[in-house]
Amino acid sequence: MNQKSGVLGLAVAALLLTGSVCLLPQSSATTSHPAAGARQIKPLVRVCGTSDLVERDVDLIERFIAAERRRRGFKPGQVLPANVSLGTIPVAFHCVYYDFGFFGGSEGLLTEADAQAQVDALSAAYTNVDFSLEIFTQTQNYDWFFHSPGSQAERNMKLSLGADSSEFLNIYSTGLSYVGLLGYAKFPWNQRKSPELDGVVISYDSIPGGLAPYDEGDTAVHEVGHWLGLYHTFQGGCRRRNDTVDDTPAEAAPFYGCVTAQPDTCPAPGVDPIFNFMDYSDDACLIEFTPGQVDRMNTMIQLFRPNIFQ
Ligand SMILES: [Zn+2]
Repeated sequence: MNQKSGVLGLAVAALLLTGSVCLLPQSSATTSHPAAGARQIKPLVRVCGTSDLVERDVDLIERFIAAERRRRGFKPGQVLPANVSLGTIPVAFHCVYYDFGFFGGSEGLLTEADAQAQVDALSAAYTNVDFSLEIFTQTQNYDWFFHSPGSQAERNMKLSLGADSSEFLNIYSTGLSYVGLLGYAKFPWNQRKSPELDGVVISYDSIPGGLAPYDEGDTAVHEVGHWLGLYHTFQGGCRRRNDTVDDTPAEAAPFYGCVTAQPDTCPAPGVDPIFNFMDYSDDACLIEFTPGQVDRMNTMIQLFRPNIFQ
């Protein structure tokens, strides 16, 4: 049984067992949860589909970034203000949902108010940029709702729905958690080569008011961090270079959950940055980007997304 027929089978079984015809009522999309039968296959912990890179790839990317900095005349160590908004990034939010057809009801159908709440969560998390919801679409499509990263369905969805990625942040909300992920994103240095695939994809139930403990919209915050050039805080583990950002201490592995006492998994100075948006902690624990990360994002915007501000 493949993933799609498995999901459908569970959903139909849940419908038949419960008699319910609506797994996610349209009027309360942000507070209702899928039926228990469907939820069993969803991930129990945060899993991000954005690639963790091998050291050789990081090496190549960082050399490319350094070359771009030189080409654009960036001085070494040039730092832009971390606490001043550089501008507003327009967002095109694409809700892809799944209609049960004969059985009635749908899953993943978000409202424009839901999308606005997600965009507001982005603006609250980022000190260097603001976000503005400019485009909102709703599309019913089974293949796109259940798509996996790298699939033809991903390509088709983005080709069909995406706004110009040099001028918009495209956010797609889908049933991504059914393939075991909460989100994935494209790095900024890929935008020029594959503009049609740019943007971030999130599971619809990760928006503010979604499915705890990932219910504050921080999945999108995390994915937009990748979209602006950040790696995971645990990229490279305890290796010296780690995530290439100096003020995020090295971390051996992703952190899951939410605690107040920070673990220390690497011999290098500093405890694990479990409150950083680029770790895997619960949304309640994800509260910060460091100045070094903000500087890296600002640089990435100027190098690779020069036309992104309104
Ligand atoms: Zn990630």
